[in-house]
Amino acid sequence: MTEQELLDKGYRKYSGKDIDVFFNTNICEHSGHCVRSNGDVFDVNRRPWIIADNADSAEVAEIIDGCPSGALKYVLHK
Ligand code: SF4
Repeated sequence: MTEQELLDKGYRKYSGKDIDVFFNTNICEHSGHCVRSNGDVFDVNRRPWIIADNADSAEVAEIIDGCPSGALKYVLHK
């Protein structure tokens, strides 16, 4: 999906240097996979709760690939 398609579907953008993370709260099923995988990037007690630059972009992408609901998406910069 393109960034515009994600935004149109209600995802919020969390910009990073090498990767932009997108999150849709209406889709999240609160499995906790993201926060357990890396609490520096995903921390529900912080605003913003996603800081894309707090880990290597490849690691962030791998965590998002493991999101069971599809609530997390990403776009890697070229
Ligand atoms: S991994 Fe996906 S479904 Fe699970 S808490 Fe994180 S965003 Fe929600």
